[in-house]
Amino acid sequence: MLSAASDILDKAVKLLEKASLCDRCLGRFFAGLGFALTNKARGESIKTMLLLAASASLREGDDKGAEGLLRLLARTGFKPANELLIKVGGTPVDAVPCELCLGMFDSALEAMVSGALSSLSNYEFGSFLVGCKVPGSIIEREDSLRSAVGIEWGESIKREVNREAGLSIASRTGKTPDFQRPDLLVVLNFHKMSVEVKPFPIFVRGRYRKLVRGVPQSRWFCPQCRGKGCSACNWTGKRYQVSVEELVTQPLMEAFGAAKAKFHGAGREDIDVRVLGPGRPFVVELIEPRKRFVNLEQLQGEVNRRCQGVIEVADLSYADKSLIGMLKLSARVKRKAYRVLVESEEAISRERLEAAAAALSNVTVKQRTPTRVLHRRADKLRLKKVHEVKLTRVEDGVFEVVVKCQGGLYVKELVHGDGGRTTPSLQELLGVKLKVLELDVVDVETP
Ligand SMILES: [Zn+2]
Ligand SMILES: [Zn+2]
Repeated sequence: MLSAASDILDKAVKLLEKASLCDRCLGRFFAGLGFALTNKARGESIKTMLLLAASASLREGDDKGAEGLLRLLARTGFKPANELLIKVGGTPVDAVPCELCLGMFDSALEAMVSGALSSLSNYEFGSFLVGCKVPGSIIEREDSLRSAVGIEWGESIKREVNREAGLSIASRTGKTPDFQRPDLLVVLNFHKMSVEVKPFPIFVRGRYRKLVRGVPQSRWFCPQCRGKGCSACNWTGKRYQVSVEELVTQPLMEAFGAAKAKFHGAGREDIDVRVLGPGRPFVVELIEPRKRFVNLEQLQGEVNRRCQGVIEVADLSYADKSLIGMLKLSARVKRKAYRVLVESEEAISRERLEAAAAALSNVTVKQRTPTRVLHRRADKLRLKKVHEVKLTRVEDGVFEVVVKCQGGLYVKELVHGDGGRTTPSLQELLGVKLKVLELDVVDVETP
């Protein structure tokens, strides 16, 4: 056991011969030894043990060896070593600032933590994680000392900075350090001597109903200026003044104090299509939010008050990032239901309509990319399932059906056939030219 003790002290002396080290930096080389101790306590104890050893050597008459050791200790700013040196008639040694951290721990760390605390006061959070950027030269010095002396017990300076800053921030804010899913990240940058606070995004899910036609799901830029603003768009940069995306995200961004927001819908509808029934599921990703604990019931009321008569949101709740992928994946396979109002070129009897509806039920439809979107989508063949077509209303030259089908099916084309690009279609089955007057989404299955 004693040989282990002398091994530790031997290595400490070798380190101090190579560099003046503050208590923390010296202690850090022995961080793997002992538990529930700070590196500062380790460093102080080692320096104290070395001082006792020097003192014992003096008694044994080894003045030269003792003085050398005392000078090494005094150089690090360890006061008792200088006092003993003076007592035995030696000349005092000027302290040299730590050559490893360059005094980072003494002054810079506390300044950084204060900076972090003042930045953090702008954010709502429950948990956090500290990270740091340390100059490469410090890391290199640390590595070369460790290998030159052959030390296997150390930890890195970054790890110590992160832990010490984390403990200090935790005790001064009452918040919890969290390594798995922190609300925000505090980055202490020792290159620039600056602090960055990076809140992680918040995800809010819900459903929207679109009560009117003529509103696109996402922001639609002006085709003339592509968003810059021109006379054609009255300097708004937009082709349509509002979109579901903007109507939903604007009040959310305000409530969460977010820098940006992304809107993800479970599929999308054409601008002239309403979304009724329970509505279409969506997730909003709020980027760099300053607030995290928003009352969603109140927020839902606020969105609906502002968007009265245009859209309506329901079931707002906090969600996980993974929901976005699920939403996109499932949009193509989940069931959707549509109400379609169709005009026919000539009157068709109820019996013929019912027969055609039945013939389209439980059928897999072959659908090439619709002509109307060919300019922006690749020409592909899709196979989509139609679960049910049900006739719900027949009037003079006009009838209404409810179509239940797989997500991603183009419903307008299922009615008029798109010149044979969608087959079978209602028009093909009836042999009469058809036109879609109105289309509403009436149900979207939740992922
Ligand atoms: Zn140091
Ligand atoms: Zn424009």
